[in-house]
Amino acid sequence: MNDEQKHQKVHAILKTVDDPELPSVSVADLGMVHEVVVDQNKVSITMVPTFAGCPALDFIEKNVKHAVENMNWVEGCQVDFSFQEKWSTDAITDEGKEQLKKHGVSPPPENYRPGEEWSVDCPYCGSSFTSMDNVFGPTACRSILYCGSCKNPFEAMKPVVDYSVV
Ligand SMILES: [Zn+2]
Repeated sequence: MNDEQKHQKVHAILKTVDDPELPSVSVADLGMVHEVVVDQNKVSITMVPTFAGCPALDFIEKNVKHAVENMNWVEGCQVDFSFQEKWSTDAITDEGKEQLKKHGVSPPPENYRPGEEWSVDCPYCGSSFTSMDNVFGPTACRSILYCGSCKNPFEAMKPVVDYSVV
């Protein structure tokens, strides 16, 4: 297996590691994977933390390491988080957004500008007739909203943007 193939294997594995805060959405689809370096049988991965308030980084690190080291050619995997790189909710892939919706979490608005009001569509019926019920969701990254059309409560990811580039 050459380096290119190894790279692809690592990326494929990263698509199977979920963010514990958002089950079924992989760390790859959340846009958290910044760089993968393969050196012979050693792999090092640089990841970008999503929401600074999310306490799951240790857990993610362990899961990623475990999944990568499970491949029989890997002798060791190093996972680092880069706090220089800025993650934004725009980094979530389309597939990631679909997965979020399937689990009743509205993906964050795209191209959000800080300070703007943001509205989200209901992940169940698509209605934009939604209201913010509780800005403090179960985690710092999510809010609870209420759909005025289908009457379902749902969660929405808050938009996060890189304030230094806007
Ligand atoms: Zn609805």
